Amino acid sequence: MVFAPGQLPNLEDIAARHLGLRLVLDHLGLSGESREAALGPALEPVLAAARRPNIAVKASALPCYVNEPYPFPSLHQHMRRVVDAYGPQRVFWWTDLTRLSCPYRQAVTLFTEERDFLSDEDQEWTMGRAALPTGSVGHCPAVDTRVCHTRGCTHATERRGMESPNRPIPQPITPEAKPYWDGLKEGKLMLPQCDDCRKPFFYPRVLCPFCHSRHISWIQASGRGKLYSFEIAYQNFNPAYKIKPPYVFAMVELEEGPHLMSNLINIDPDPKVLKCDMPVVVVFEKLTDEVTIPLFQPAK
Ligand SMILES: [Zn+2]
Repeated sequence: MVFAPGQLPNLEDIAARHLGLRLVLDHLGLSGESREAALGPALEPVLAAARRPNIAVKASALPCYVNEPYPFPSLHQHMRRVVDAYGPQRVFWWTDLTRLSCPYRQAVTLFTEERDFLSDEDQEWTMGRAALPTGSVGHCPAVDTRVCHTRGCTHATERRGMESPNRPIPQPITPEAKPYWDGLKEGKLMLPQCDDCRKPFFYPRVLCPFCHSRHISWIQASGRGKLYSFEIAYQNFNPAYKIKPPYVFAMVELEEGPHLMSNLINIDPDPKVLKCDMPVVVVFEKLTDEVTIPLFQPAK
């Protein structure tokens, strides 16, 4: 998944040289400036990039590119052009909860109820199947299957002679995220912060998501926040995820502002107990010598 507006020629070049690599253009490869009337022209190079069979697009952020209310009528023509260019197997929806300008339900129904140009099968592709990695059926693309966390992969996290981590572990740890993982090993929750607009953000990336500056520093977060949203999971879809359900998926709003997806622990997974905005605090769980993850629990 790449978000690099203005870099499409380079991305196409990478795609052409590495045919086994599947590139997904996050937010359709568009910057926040490609709004309203500018959206059509900005899409032209994105549509042209469909000639590379190993490029796909994630289209769920489309509502961010218009100011009009749901069902965003001016977006539909653009959605159709994208699907016509890439085909439903290379256009997919994914949650974009932290940046969408509309509620979750509308983000879904924009794709499931407002589009009349997709068959049921095409819709199945865009709403899930297309997001599965190429070759995930019957073949694990991970070099080391012990750390495979591919959706749909049955290799799970079998570790011979070692206790298995109870959830997928990140592989690889990319350079822009290394300070985050290094901090967790020391019991610190580190956040990238833009040197230019001074806003902290999450997840770690090479560009500030607010002003696109490349000047990024790191700050230590307080570890305190509040439960922004949650979901109680009653079954596991990924065999690598071995936490016994039910458990709580939590979107935490950190005191510093960024949202972070985690699990809320040390609380009953019961909707009568869980309350949005309840104060939470980070706890650290060591999975391996290299990987510690941040979980959250109710603040005392
Ligand atoms: Zn910035």
